[in-house]
Amino acid sequence: MINAPQIVEIKEIVSETPTIKTFKFDWDSNKFGEVNPGEFLMIWNFSDEKPMSISNISNNELSISVKNIGEFTSQLHDLKVGDEIGVRGSYGNGFNTDFDAKKLLVIGGGVGMAPVTALTHKLVENNEVDVLVAATTKDELLFLEDLENVGANVHPCTDDGSFGFKGYASDCLNSLLEDSTYDYAFVCGPEIMMIGIFNILEDAGILADYSLERYMKCALGVCGQCCVDNTGWRICMEGPVFNSEKIRLIEEFGKYRRDASGVKY
Ligand SMILES: Cc1cc2nc3c(=O)[nH]c(=O)nc-3n(C[C@H](O)[C@H](O)[C@H](O)COP(=O)(O)OP(=O)(O)OC[C@H]3O[C@@H](n4cnc5c(N)ncnc54)[C@H](O)[C@@H]3O)c2cc1C
Repeated sequence: MINAPQIVEIKEIVSETPTIKTFKFDWDSNKFGEVNPGEFLMIWNFSDEKPMSISNISNNELSISVKNIGEFTSQLHDLKVGDEIGVRGSYGNGFNTDFDAKKLLVIGGGVGMAPVTALTHKLVENNEVDVLVAATTKDELLFLEDLENVGANVHPCTDDGSFGFKGYASDCLNSLLEDSTYDYAFVCGPEIMMIGIFNILEDAGILADYSLERYMKCALGVCGQCCVDNTGWRICMEGPVFNSEKIRLIEEFGKYRRDASGVKY
């Protein structure tokens, strides 16, 4: 674990959708440790620091994919190739990738596709992988081509029906389950989407890993900002990925979370 940010130069920026950009930078894994899908980084823009999932892991290069939703993320979107950011991590427990010759289902909604895309790159090496890519509209669908190129079976789904299945990710999942079943699933997206998916997968008897987000400050397990009721698990240490058995015990899952001052909303 590193506790001081490493200063890295942005090598490449890709505009993925009208609201999401991918930032690529060098990362010496011999020096800073191996990085696994589902782990996250703390990104520092020299004034604030926020958590971001790793969307691609290559030899000595990492990517993050950032949705512009507020002050910090909009400042990141203003960066240019050659600009520097601070990076600390990687942190957290990633996805379980110990599968062989299984039929697996990956589900990502919006920028929730970031961690599950890095995961899919690994899973396709030894498994058959279906990926349900959900977004509000066609222009916001993330990584379709990349996922097809690595050999995943991609199922796009949009709320407004502008591309692929018309409806929510949960509707698309119900439709996939009419013809298929899966040995295991992996889910990341807005919590309102994940709770719907969780209920369907539980009914179908399909165990899964779910990646959760909570407001984070230290990411080192010290401040307690990202603890969840009633287990007290810290999303930065015991998470951000939890399996079905653990998700069943997180009472606030799909119900509420806490803001920067700890107030429930
Ligand atoms: C483990 C983890 C992985 C994440 N991965 C990604 C990713 O790959 N791509 C991406 O675009 N976003 C990701 N996020 C969310 C990202 O950290 C927030 O969108 C970002 O911090 C918003 O900052 P802002 O100033 O632009 O927006 P603000 O206007 O400050 O906040 C908008 C919303 O973002 C969330 N947020 C704000 N600050 C934090 C914080 N310190 N920690 C957690 N959530 C916060 C809150 O829900 C808030 O309501 C991740 C969050 C976590 C916890």
